[in-house]
Amino acid sequence: MASVTMASVTPGLKSFKRIVVKVGSSLLVNAERGELHADWLIALAEDLAERAKAGAQIVVVSSGAIALGRTVLQFAKGALKLEESQAAAAVGQIALARAWSEALGKVGLVAGQVLLTLKDTEERRNYLNARATIGKLLDIKAIPVINENDTVATSEIRYGDNDRLAARVASMIGADLLILFSDIDGFYDAPPHLNKDAKLIPIIPRITADIESMAGAAGSELSRGGMVTKVEAAKIATLAGAHMIIASGRKVHPLRAIANGEACTWFLTPANPVTARKKWIVGNLEPRGIIHVDGGAVAALRNGKSLLPAGVVKVSGEFARGDAVLVRGPDGEEIARGLVAYDSEDAAKIVKKSTNEIVLILGYEGRAAMIHRDDLAMAGE
Ligand code: GLU
Repeated sequence: MASVTMASVTPGLKSFKRIVVKVGSSLLVNAERGELHADWLIALAEDLAERAKAGAQIVVVSSGAIALGRTVLQFAKGALKLEESQAAAAVGQIALARAWSEALGKVGLVAGQVLLTLKDTEERRNYLNARATIGKLLDIKAIPVINENDTVATSEIRYGDNDRLAARVASMIGADLLILFSDIDGFYDAPPHLNKDAKLIPIIPRITADIESMAGAAGSELSRGGMVTKVEAAKIATLAGAHMIIASGRKVHPLRAIANGEACTWFLTPANPVTARKKWIVGNLEPRGIIHVDGGAVAALRNGKSLLPAGVVKVSGEFARGDAVLVRGPDGEEIARGLVAYDSEDAAKIVKKSTNEIVLILGYEGRAAMIHRDDLAMAGE
């Protein structure tokens, strides 16, 4: 590994089209005084604007609500009780959102606040909705600024750390790169503050048992947001087809620093996003129903098209919007699996119907496709 240079192995930032950037609390908020590092934030916003100008879509996952709110509320130092951190988040999130909106506004970008709970990425109906909203924001070139909805999350249903939240978001929107900015500049083979010979590993092609045990040992930060959660995040992101970078945010223009070859750690994804996402659909979800399609639809699907209601002849099983379903052709053979955009009741009503008729039948404008191409994995692919 020592003989390969970073630049020769890792793609340049330019090649990424959808980048999720996660910013930790300690970078945004001064721990002593609880003030926002406004200049640093503006420099980062400039970096993001550069990427956006180069054609990348950017999503921000930002911590800092609790850190900002606890100062305003003058909570004493130390651990907060759940309801205290929720109150702090309620107060701090307003300030955090404003800070992002102002910083991005200065560089000509519009910020849109999205607060997610664990449920929103675990339950597929919520998942599809959240994804559609974030996708829409990206389409109109706004920057989603995401945090956990701390005020409603209870301890059992919390992410608790934005590293994993960011990885889930990266997977949800099919990002090709996730960058975790933290107070450490990469992944070390031993705890750097305890071992002066600890070495930063620049490229991790695969998360092996070795890597996992190094993460456990490198107790460089508290476990929340520490290396263990970063490796968890790397697993989620790389499995979903995104590369992940751990880089230091402790410098102005941290994104430019990566582009300029500053030391950091890349976790490489083995697959391209589409394949990995489809693997997830095929591999992780239990089909709840069957969509029977005609020969024309089979041909269209094999040509890379989405599944339209017009080509559906029958629907069986009980499923909710966002559930996994099987697609079977005229002879009953499995053609594909996918995430369905309608629940079984509505899906049955629009069987064989053209896209224009859907709104009249259902009374609302649903998705044009019964299963969108991105949510469809062809058998044998
Ligand atoms: N959602 C928390 C906040 O905004 C941060 C969680 C984390 O730091 O990972 O304060």
